[in-house]
Formats: sequence, structure tokens, C-alpha cells
Amino acid sequence: MIYLDNNATTRVAPEVRDAMLPYLSELYGNPSSAHTFGRETRRAVERAREQVAELLGARESSEIIFTSCGSESDNWAIRGVLERRPDKRHLVTTRVEHEAVRNLCEKLERDGYEVTWLDVDGEGSLNLEDVRAALRPDTAVVSVMLANNETGVLFPVEEIGRVVRERSEAAFHVDGVQAVGKIPIDLKSTEVDLFSLSGHKFHAPKGVGALYVRAGLDLAPFIIGGGQERGRRAGTEAVPYLVALGAAAELAHNFDGHGTIRRLRDQMEDAILDSIPNARLNGTRDRERRLPNTANISFEYVEGEAILAQLDDAGISVSTGSACNAESHVSSAVLRAMNVPYTAAQGSIRFSLGRYNTAEEIDRTLSVLPAIVARLFEMSPH
Ligand code: PLP
Repeated sequence: MIYLDNNATTRVAPEVRDAMLPYLSELYGNPSSAHTFGRETRRAVERAREQVAELLGARESSEIIFTSCGSESDNWAIRGVLERRPDKRHLVTTRVEHEAVRNLCEKLERDGYEVTWLDVDGEGSLNLEDVRAALRPDTAVVSVMLANNETGVLFPVEEIGRVVRERSEAAFHVDGVQAVGKIPIDLKSTEVDLFSLSGHKFHAPKGVGALYVRAGLDLAPFIIGGGQERGRRAGTEAVPYLVALGAAAELAHNFDGHGTIRRLRDQMEDAILDSIPNARLNGTRDRERRLPNTANISFEYVEGEAILAQLDDAGISVSTGSACNAESHVSSAVLRAMNVPYTAAQGSIRFSLGRYNTAEEIDRTLSVLPAIVARLFEMSPH
């Protein structure tokens, strides 16, 4: 089996599994307990916090709060700011956010908040002037993603942060879920106030994430109860998962194979665009402004689901648009926002590589894909 769907989720790294296993057996203390068992797990939790802080370039590890997933981090960041700023009823976000931000902002709109939805151009890029123009005295929060989950397009969050800080008092939230582990991040040199991540996107198990909260930012608590996470998210810590997240963060921090992933992706993308006549790239051609692991390619007049199914039969796992859209048969909101024509958007495939992919796997994919696309194209009414 060849797994080219690393933006949907990743395999748990063996190093990560090994790190968490003792906390599923003999090291079962509650980190809040004062005895030896408790102190041991408390130390493990705080070490995990430091590992995540290191990966993100946070100023201090207390800026990292553990959550259950990226969606929770996104929801909490936005709602937590709004709760603290009841006089400010305006938000700024983009049309290409993940559902965890997009659907929340739509709900807030229904609840009476005003949302400015920033458009992207045909390559999926954002115009800084639009960000500047959207800011108002009553803007409570600006929420943009660092890397798009479908196209890999990167938004210039450093510049956006400067604009937000210069022009408003809004809190700046970045959904970094797809970027963490794929590109370097150094939050202390940015104006980012809140930053979401999710463990399962970088080789930790599903069910654990984190929210970076810049020191001093006023954010309402998410779960009220005991004093865990300094009173901001109560509940006994999921110690094995937090240890796993820390181990995955350290693994990502020390990873030196980004160049290989980028080369494999470039080779695959070039070969597909060169050899398949109805193939077109979705997202900017400037590879510096895209994640190094992602290629989103449309095969015009062909159904993406049919390509996915035939690649799956050949043992190759890819995705059509975002994994959350897989069942819905609605064309991707991200591609619609980029004005990708329907005939191309329906035939979009996302290839997303990871640390375990090999050159042989890319060769094998390139050896079966052109014939699959040609066959389906012949059968399609075009
Ligand atoms: N944000 C982005 C950009 C994502 O790609 C995802 C998951 O695909 C999420 C948020 C949600 O993360 P989780 O699956 O951990 O809830």
C-alpha cells in the first residue's frame, strides 16, 4: 500500500508509540497527585509542553495548552477571545479556511456577529491590502490559516500579523494544523496571539492537539473544573497522548528529510503536469509559497472519486479535496473560492507526501496514474 494522504492524517511514528507506551501501563499516576506516581506523570506532561514549545518557537512553555484536536483549538481560540471582548462583534477570516474555522464563523454570523470573508485569487493567495481594509475598531479576532489543507498554499502570516497589530486591537489566530511538522515555525518572532495544531498531522495519535496562547493574552477558559492547564482547560490530563504529542514534536523538530519530501513531490507534480494533457495545478506555481509535501491537481472532465477509487484498487491512497468532503459530493469550497471551473474542481486529487514515502512509491504512482486518467477521460462526456 502506498499512502499519499498525509494531510488527512499520518501514521503514528514508532518512536512516538514507544514513548507513550509506559504511560499506558506502569506510569499511570494522576499528574495532580502529590505522590511519586503523580510527580512522574507531572514531569512527563511538562516535558511534553516544552517539546511542543520548542517546535513552535514559543517564548515559554506555559504558552502551550493541550487540547483534544485541531478543531477544538480553532473553536476555543475564536470563542475564547469573543467571550472576553463582548463589545467587539466583528471577525475577519478567509473563504478557504478549514471547516473548524469556516463553519464556526458561519454560526457566529447567524448568532449576530459580523464576519468579513477575505477572498483569494485564482492561485489561492490572499491580498494583504484586503486584510488591511477589513480591520475595524470593533474587530475582535482575525483568523487565518498558515497552510491550506487542500492546496498547501501558504498565507504570509508574519506580514498579516504586522498589519493586524499596526491597524487594530484584534487578536490574531493562526490555524497552523497543516503547517506544523512540514515547515519551520518561530512564533516568538511574529505577532501571532493564538496558534492551533493537531498531533495526528505529524505522527502523534488522533485525539490530541494544542493551542498556543501568547503570554498575557486574555482568553476565556474552555473547560471549567479543576486547575489543570492553569485553570484554562480543566480535566485530568490525557498523559499518554500528551507524551506522544511531545515526542512527535521533538521528532518533527529534529527531522532532516524535508528536502527529500520536496524533491519527491516536485518530481511527481512535474511528471503529472507534463504527461497528462488534461491535468492542471490548483494553487500557486510558486513552490516557495506552498507546503513542500502537497500537490493538488485537477484532471479536467474526469470525476475525482473515480480516480481515487481506481488508485485505491492499485494500492495507492489519495484524497479528493479535503477528507471531510469525501462523502458529500459537493465541490470543494476552497477550489470554488479560487474560481476553479466546475469541470476541473470535480476532478481534483490531493497528493500529500510524508516522511515514510519513497522514490519507488512515487515511480509506481506515476506508472499507473496516466492510464487511469486516460481511460476515465475517454468514458467522460467532454
Ligand atoms: N485545520 C486544518 C487546516 C486542518 O487541515 C484540520 C484537519 O484536517 C483541522 C483544522 C482539524 O484538525 P483535527 O482533525 O485535529 O480536528
